[in-house]
Amino acid sequence: MNIRSIAVFCGSKPGLHPLYMLEAAKLGAGIARGHMHIIYGGGNKGIMGAIANAALAENGTVTGVIPRLLIEWEQQHNGLTELIVTENMHQRKKLLYELCDAAVILPGGYGTLDELFEMLTWNQLNIHRKKIFILNTNGYYNYLNQHLEKMEEEGFLYTDVENRIVFCDTPQQLIEQLILPGY
Ligand code: AMP
Repeated sequence: MNIRSIAVFCGSKPGLHPLYMLEAAKLGAGIARGHMHIIYGGGNKGIMGAIANAALAENGTVTGVIPRLLIEWEQQHNGLTELIVTENMHQRKKLLYELCDAAVILPGGYGTLDELFEMLTWNQLNIHRKKIFILNTNGYYNYLNQHLEKMEEEGFLYTDVENRIVFCDTPQQLIEQLILPGY
């Protein structure tokens, strides 16, 4: 299967190092130029805003899936191709997973890691089987990678980490992976 729709999970904050926003924007632009569609949390701040705005600037298409609660906080992006409002966070995450062919994780906080681990768990349980890519900008996820290896070494995982997640250091590398046929 070729990847057409990509769920993007990333921070609602920009992070301290300028590379986080810059690399996110490069990835957003690259996805749009590759004619792939972005589905994400619908926010306009931080890394979320950077990737969505960069994709839109390259005439890409972006769907936001936002729970009503967050709309009331008025943090949603108003210039998206499509905005889907869900009743709660659970519906939102379910829809994000259903609509995508693959997921990309960028630097972020609790929300980002929650989405990563829920996707991994659902893959493990065969609820779905979506390829997961991590953009490891500035080595942000090095410790996570080490911890995943520890989980594998200590016998808590059902399959090798590398079967579940592809780590990429740059947006260029990640785009190359996304356009590989056969995922
Ligand atoms: P965090 O990593 O804690 O900043 O949370 C980011 C993740 O949570 C994103 O991938 C979104 O799905 C969700 N999220 C957090 N804040 C917002 C927001 N203001 N608007 C939409 N989604 C958000």
